[in-house]
Order: sequence, then C-alpha cells, then structure tokens
Amino acid sequence: MKGQRGLGCGALLVALAVARSGGGEADQVRETADPLAALVQGLATGRLQVIDLTQSLSDRTPVIQLPPPFADTPGFEKHLISNFDEQGPAWYWNWFRVGEHVGTHFDAPCHWITGKDQPCVDGLEARQFIGPAAVIDVTAEVRLDPNFVATRETILAWERQHGRVPPGAWVILRTGWGARAADAEAFMNPGADGTPRYPGFGKDSAEFLTQERDVLGVGTEAIGTDAAAGAAADPPFPNHAIMHGAGRFGLTQLANVDRLPAAGAVVIAAPLKIERGSGSPVRAIALVPTR
Ligand code: MN
Repeated sequence: MKGQRGLGCGALLVALAVARSGGGEADQVRETADPLAALVQGLATGRLQVIDLTQSLSDRTPVIQLPPPFADTPGFEKHLISNFDEQGPAWYWNWFRVGEHVGTHFDAPCHWITGKDQPCVDGLEARQFIGPAAVIDVTAEVRLDPNFVATRETILAWERQHGRVPPGAWVILRTGWGARAADAEAFMNPGADGTPRYPGFGKDSAEFLTQERDVLGVGTEAIGTDAAAGAAADPPFPNHAIMHGAGRFGLTQLANVDRLPAAGAVVIAAPLKIERGSGSPVRAIALVPTR
C-alpha cells in the first residue's frame, strides 16, 4: 500500500485498538480505522491533491449540435433573482435552466435506447460515483488525427505499462481537448463540410471495456464520450449504445485531465438526483497522490 510513512495518526489509532483487543481483531480494525484517517491526513498534509475536473457552466458552454431532424438541447442560462437589491436586500441568488447533457456532465444508462430499462441518475447507488481512474494519454495521436477513435489496442497499450484496468474504474481518455472548452468553434472543430471532428471512444473500445473488463464507465474531454466519427458509425454513437446497454456511464467535457496521473487517482462524479434524469451536470473531482 502506498503512503505507509504518512499514516502516522491512523497507524497510531490502529495500534491502540489492536493493543486493546489483544490483536485478534487486527485485520478488522485496520480495515475500519485506516482508510478515512489516511484520507483526512493525506488531504491535510497535501500528500493528496484534489483536482477539479469540471469546466465552468455559462451561456458560452459548448453544446452538442445534432443534424436535422433531431432536437437539440438548450445550453446553460442563468437568471438573476436578487443581488442585494429591493428584490432581496441581503441576498444574492440566481435560477438557471440547463439541459441534462450540458457542460461537464454524467450520462446515465437510461440515456440510450439500449439502456432504456437500466437505471437513470436517481436509480444509481452513490457508491457508483467513485472509482479509480485509468487515464490513457492519446494526445500525440490526436495531434495527428482529431477524429481519433480509441480501440481495444488503445486500452491494452495502457495496460502493458500500468497493469490491468482495475474493477470499477473510470477509463478516461486524455486528448488535450479540454484546452479548447471555452471556444465552441475550436471545441467542435468542424471540417470544410461543417462536420465536427473530435476524438473519443468507439465500438471496439466499448466492447472490450464492457465484455472483458469491469468499469464504471468512460470519460472524455470532448462534447461526448463517442468520437465525432461515431455519428456516422453503425450503430450510431457506438460507445453510447454499448456502454449504456451494459449499464455503464459516461463523463464528458472533463477539465484538467492533463493533471491526472495515468494510474493512481480516484475520480468522484456525482450527478444531481433528477427523477428519471438521463444525465446531469456534475462537479467532477479527482483525488491525486503527490509523488
Ligand atoms: Mn451526454
């Protein structure tokens, strides 16, 4: 286990508890006393950093544009209620309107037809919002081809360096795309014919991750979890079709992915508990050990 030297307080508690119990319950005590003490101490000492994986929500947040005849989602709109004025002399507050799939957000299984009988955001266990992050760096590939689509081999190449994708992982594609998030034109990156070009997951990667690994879901920096090329694939948006059909999730428009290690971070991404919500904006964060 990492961080043995940093466990001081937790280790002391364990030692006291073990002394009291005569050692017979040592394993049980260690399991119950150690992890949160280590977490709290890690945060207090800076041995654990908290990285914000979330883009700001504003009326400039890029939203996905579907071709006709499909309906598009509204973006984010913020409306003032009062600002220390006659509408509310001592309080500032707003109300907002936003689509479920706007900005840094969570895709629930019921978002897709393949997962229509699977849980929506309100039916998921809170435990399912936390998992280790496998961060796959494909920035070099994306520089050569903005339509990069992850495959089984993309994940296997990561595994050769970092070991098997852990159970319950968020598998996150690091592409450099987050740097474009404030500029809708650069973010959608249309070609000469207006077709968007951005990287993401596809059929091959989704089949591998749902059939041969056990993941919470996948995350990207772009507008969706599928690469732009997925719009013209069969089935359309194959990562959505396969992931959500298998009850797995998506995270999109992630920020600061370049600050995550390839392995060793934990990502927490909890959607709003919207009744039958197909997704929700999230404040996604990562706990990252400092080296
Ligand atoms: Mn979505």
